[in-house]
Amino acid sequence: NGEFPLLDGGVPGPVIQPHQGQLKAQAFRLKPLRAKLPIWEHQGAIRAALRAKNVLVMLGETGSGKSTQIGQFLVNEKWMARRRVTITFGNADGTDKEVMAGGCIAITQPRRVAATNLARRVAQEMGCHLGDEVGYSVRFDNKSSEKTRVKFLTDGMLLQEMLHDPLLKRYSAVVVDEAHERTVGTDLVLGFLRGLVYGRRKGLKVIIMSATLEVEKMAFNNESSSEGPDTENEQYDGTVAAFRVPGRQFPVEIYHTPEPVVDYVDAALKTVFQLHYAERLPGDILVFLTGQEEIESLRKLIEDYAQSMDNSVPKILVLPLYSALPPGLQQRVFQPAYERNTRKVILSTNIAETSVTVPGVRHVVDCGKVKMKQYRPRIGLESLLITPVSKSSALQRAGRAGREGPGKCYRLYTERDFMSLADTTVPEILRCDVASSILTLKARGQEDVLAFDYLDSPGREALGRGLEHLYTLGALDNSAKINELGHKMAKLPLVPSLARVLIAAAEPGADCLHEAIDIIAALSVENILLTPTGDEKREQMEEARKEFDRREGDHIMLLTLVREYESQPQKKAWAEKHFVSHRAMQNLLDVRKQLKQYTTHFTGPSSPPPTPAATVTPDLATRVLKCFLKGFLHNTARLVPDGSYRTVVGNQAVGIHPSSVLFGKRVEAIVYHEFVYTTRAFARGVSAVEMGWVGEGLVGGG
Ligand code: ADP
Repeated sequence: NGEFPLLDGGVPGPVIQPHQGQLKAQAFRLKPLRAKLPIWEHQGAIRAALRAKNVLVMLGETGSGKSTQIGQFLVNEKWMARRRVTITFGNADGTDKEVMAGGCIAITQPRRVAATNLARRVAQEMGCHLGDEVGYSVRFDNKSSEKTRVKFLTDGMLLQEMLHDPLLKRYSAVVVDEAHERTVGTDLVLGFLRGLVYGRRKGLKVIIMSATLEVEKMAFNNESSSEGPDTENEQYDGTVAAFRVPGRQFPVEIYHTPEPVVDYVDAALKTVFQLHYAERLPGDILVFLTGQEEIESLRKLIEDYAQSMDNSVPKILVLPLYSALPPGLQQRVFQPAYERNTRKVILSTNIAETSVTVPGVRHVVDCGKVKMKQYRPRIGLESLLITPVSKSSALQRAGRAGREGPGKCYRLYTERDFMSLADTTVPEILRCDVASSILTLKARGQEDVLAFDYLDSPGREALGRGLEHLYTLGALDNSAKINELGHKMAKLPLVPSLARVLIAAAEPGADCLHEAIDIIAALSVENILLTPTGDEKREQMEEARKEFDRREGDHIMLLTLVREYESQPQKKAWAEKHFVSHRAMQNLLDVRKQLKQYTTHFTGPSSPPPTPAATVTPDLATRVLKCFLKGFLHNTARLVPDGSYRTVVGNQAVGIHPSSVLFGKRVEAIVYHEFVYTTRAFARGVSAVEMGWVGEGLVGGG
């Protein structure tokens, strides 16, 4: 008969059903752990601050308990209850209006992994089923209900909710977590929130949480970024509270390499074993790399080497951590190694920098790089680039070693390189294609995108380019106002180009919505096709994959693959034989289901889904590819006499990526899903098209 944590000064919490006994017992067991978090002793002060003020800016070390505890601290506050609130100037005649609002607290995260993991953890801590009092909502996955009172969502999903609920009437409070990451979503959410708390929803509570000092700009009473009349800001100056959760940070010794390293995966391998032999247990190792591929290759290398270790050396347990990893495996990093005398080596992307705190780490190995979205205005394309981290990120990474005791950080770069790093990471909104952001703003009533209250404005030029892109997609009218097509596009949880493809596919004449959905779902899931090592396996793979090799290119190949997979009675065995990831396929089917739900409201009755085994005729393939062209005219290239490809817009050289079925082939023109820049510029997700179709699109506009 344990006790349920009822916070002081609050209204009673959720009623515990008898069958929830086990959950309740678990919550009870977790309580002492919560009480040890640095933030715990400040809960009274945090509650008091929010009773007095509407905006709270909270600074706290990663791992101090901000994300897991804030919702629990606040959920039982009186102001959390759903009640009548005044919406200022809510009526057409300019008078105030009263509506019911509140009852739930939203906590936004830049990453979906963080949102789902946190919700899972907080549900355990509160002793409830995930999706009841505690839930989450991320793209293509929603585990929340009417009952949900603490809801974790990606910043993108909160923006999505604002389409239907621009005043965020569901919520009494919005917590913007990891604000220092400055993702586009975070920046837009902050701009809108500022408008709301100083405008139509004066009672809404906003909590901005950050792990680094760069929050000054985000404090809502910052004069330099305010556009409104001074008097109004004066009036609300008193509404902002600032709070700092003192961290528990032990000293971390930092080492640099004397010379620049050529291959950081190899350098990481050596460092891990050097450390493993030199340092006693306990003390796990956290390695920062840039992406899944690197992580999986280092994992294999470490596991191979570890086999030849002598019995006197502790064992090694390698645990990867990246977004595309299934939730069960992500959860694994939080658990102890189980087997005694074992060291955990966690290989992570920058998720572990501030989003996720891995316990037990005493040694950090930092490759000094990160994979970032980057817009290249010269060629008008967005691509993923591996770039050096900022100083601020490097310090955060080193800090992960000093959470539980004095630690060490090994940087796989020289001290000189460190000194030359930029102080902070450039906010995403300044380095990505802003078309999505513009559509987001316009669909939520902010037509004048130059005048929006940005933390950092992308600037006139970038906004101009974004407007142009949206215009060519057909989302705007001649006076740059969002039109019906634009609104339709904004309702889809996809970038504007893909939204345009789906809408084109639903049009009569094209009539290939099911096919377009299958392909988009396949494009959105990572690593469907596995690459075996060894010549023999590779031959087997090539032989097996002939079944869905299509001369039209990757889009139609993926479609054929989905159809083949679905028609199999023994899906898992079939997937294995064809070196296709069964898990990724299951994921794909899940994404597809959600996309279908999103499209029902604008398509109306469409043709029935094709039977799984239906073949993709050349005519159907053409219709599908023409739809993709409607969204990807800016991603086309034509063959030039020397046998290489040059982009139609910008005339830049681009090669077909080795992963494509069209690799090494010569076709008149190509459309591609993605532009990646590794050793050189590559098109990934490539299909063959005719120049005539490209021309039609360019002339016809959206
Ligand atoms: P902050 O937001 O300040 O970075 P968090 O609230 O995310 O801190 O984390 C507090 C503690 O809870 C950390 O020690 C972390 O390891 C633990 N924790 C967070 N999520 C999980 C989880 N899913 N499973 C187990 N422990 C977790």
